[in-house]
Amino acid sequence: MVIASNLGFPRIGPGRELKRCLERYWFGEVNEAELQAAAASIRRQNWLLQKSAGMDHIPSNDFSFYDHVLDAAVMVGAIPERFGITESVTLPDYFAMARGRVGGGGRRDLPAMEMTKWFDTNYHYIVPEFSSGRPFQLLDDKPVREFLEAAALGIHTRPVILGPFSLLMLGRDAESGGPVLHRLPELAEVYVELLRRLRDAGATWVQMDEPCLSLDLDDASMGAFETACRRIGERNSGIEILLTTYFADIGDRLDRLADLPVAGLHLDLVRAPHLLEKLIARKRTGPAVSLGIVDGRNVWRADLHRLLGWVERAIGAFGAERVMIAPSCSLLHVPLDARLETGLSPEVQNMLAFAVQKLHEVAALAKGARFGRKAIAGELDTCTAALEQRRQPGAFHDPAVRERVAALKPAMFHRPLPYDQRRGLQAQRLRLPRLPTTTIGSFPQTPDVRKARAQYLAGRLDGSQYEEHIREQIRHTLSVQEQIGLDVLVHGEYERTDMVEYFGAHLAGFTTTQFGWVQSYGSRCVKPPIIFGDVHRRQPITLDHTLYAQSLTQKPVKGMLTGPLTILNWSFVRDDQPRWETCFQIALAIRDEVKDLQAAGISIIQIDEPTLREGLPLRKADQPAYLRWAVDAFRLSAAGASAQTQVHTHMCYCNYGEILDAVIEMDADVISLEAARSSMELLKVLSERRYPNEIGPGVYDIHSPRVPSEAEIHALIREMLKVLRPEQLWINPDCGLKTRRWEEVIPALTHMVQAAKRVRGELAAS
Ligand code: GLN
Ligand code: ZN
Repeated sequence: MVIASNLGFPRIGPGRELKRCLERYWFGEVNEAELQAAAASIRRQNWLLQKSAGMDHIPSNDFSFYDHVLDAAVMVGAIPERFGITESVTLPDYFAMARGRVGGGGRRDLPAMEMTKWFDTNYHYIVPEFSSGRPFQLLDDKPVREFLEAAALGIHTRPVILGPFSLLMLGRDAESGGPVLHRLPELAEVYVELLRRLRDAGATWVQMDEPCLSLDLDDASMGAFETACRRIGERNSGIEILLTTYFADIGDRLDRLADLPVAGLHLDLVRAPHLLEKLIARKRTGPAVSLGIVDGRNVWRADLHRLLGWVERAIGAFGAERVMIAPSCSLLHVPLDARLETGLSPEVQNMLAFAVQKLHEVAALAKGARFGRKAIAGELDTCTAALEQRRQPGAFHDPAVRERVAALKPAMFHRPLPYDQRRGLQAQRLRLPRLPTTTIGSFPQTPDVRKARAQYLAGRLDGSQYEEHIREQIRHTLSVQEQIGLDVLVHGEYERTDMVEYFGAHLAGFTTTQFGWVQSYGSRCVKPPIIFGDVHRRQPITLDHTLYAQSLTQKPVKGMLTGPLTILNWSFVRDDQPRWETCFQIALAIRDEVKDLQAAGISIIQIDEPTLREGLPLRKADQPAYLRWAVDAFRLSAAGASAQTQVHTHMCYCNYGEILDAVIEMDADVISLEAARSSMELLKVLSERRYPNEIGPGVYDIHSPRVPSEAEIHALIREMLKVLRPEQLWINPDCGLKTRRWEEVIPALTHMVQAAKRVRGELAAS
């Protein structure tokens, strides 16, 4: 019989209970027992829910207090020396690793372990650090504990463990920072031991996640993985391993994976639908196939008709006992339950499938496969009707938008003149000093600002009162910037909770949800907007606030926009047309905004694209196509500007070396980049490859409360001038200042402006 299977479930709880309880625990408002009870209750609800939804294989150990990669590192005893842990890891120890610990009482400050993005998702994991002097050991048996906890509730689960290959690949050597894959044979023995313990506890299946198989791998790494997997597969008597891959097309290594001694192989058929035919064409027996066909990365209803066809095809080829039906990856990346949303239009509501709905889809497909299409006639009809409605003109489609995209001409992707000629025109108009100083856009979002917003949302402030509050903030921010002596000013972005959500809320084709939370890291959750239909701008979005700010000063005020790619990458995107097409629609909306700002006299416009790097596909072969349309989308939005209008962009926290060519092709007049946390690295990249236009590598780290001294910034500017020409250098912080306090921002910017002035003087004298 086919198996209905799930790979992982959202762990924050229906009302974000875990988030709330964690934060109260960190504040000392609840004790460990209360936190443990809240966690156990979430796990219990999740298991029962999955059971009642008809899942045959229900995951356990997919819960985490902070991050599942950190859990796996702790499990095998990979704990950085600085935490001084030798025996067992207590909950305070665990959080110290995840979040750092402030010293006191004779204890040192402990910096947190580094955090970085989980593949191409917006989830962030803790980067494991492996000390070479510390042998691996099974330090913590969380997978066994959670298996037994579920068993006590009468639920037989399939423990999920992050596989040893991915655990090592995601981490680095604690001392050298280098790769650690050579320790795989040693680590594999710990997994042999873990599987033995799971079997003794009564587990029959284990899900071994190896998402790093979705990356470009050299032959040696792939070989190391195979050896370890064989060792684990052959040494375990009686427990079946489901080897899970997801997020990319692994077609080039499918044969090798299918020959491993594992009981099941999971494939992401949403990202790589052709893998099924490829597997069928092998005509060899191999592991059971887990068909990852319900999209675990997006929020749309599945096409049950089509997917049931795939299931039937797989059953025909492999036999029903060798087929599993599953979401494409863990459901960690989608919100919990679409039924909680009450404010959506019925057409959109009807198209949504969050985690709970996705389980029902998996269950329906399994039922259809077992008992025939008639057995799920109701589900199929509902699905067909919803999909049909989506194709009809109406809520989802806007012919004018589609015509506009179809009518795009190459000239629309080019500024009217090349940079060399724009430069002089802009200099004449703006009359900025050398090494102009500016900020990235946002200024402190104080408790005051947040309170006014909350009151407005609760209906306790009316629109005009709230607007007056925003204007008061703008006035204050402008006067501070004038006093500090910055050259290019900003309005401060007080009206935005979030740079994407704000634009999403003002564009047609977008909707925002009430409860659509997704874990970003630890207790932090985000609520991505949903792009359901053709996108266009109903009316100007930023014009009023920008013009108001400009009316208060003689200096230029930058118009601040979020770029089309970033809006795309931080939203749930419609799946009935290619991503580039949606991105071009957004680009046209931003282009309209650029034109309106320009027509109203704004001379500088910044289009932020912090996510250019993060949207990059995992496999190198897929990257050039993405970069092409990504750069084009930015250009389409920016090329609405005349030669005299200066277009800025901003990017942060990525390895620019990989994408510098694309960044250059974006052809912004000025780019500001994060650099203070890794300034030397960026300068190295820029010394090897000339950046043609103007550029502001950040001169201080805004993620730290530390105020940099003038001398420090001065020295950094001097370093920058070794690889950049004075005519092209701008002076700015790393990123927006919204998370900082005024007490930090004012002295830091003052030092920055003083340092810039000092270097100007030095340049004039030399
Ligand atoms: N303009 C935005 C800000 O200052 C940029 C934020 C970002 O790069 N993530 O907040
Ligand atoms: Zn930034």
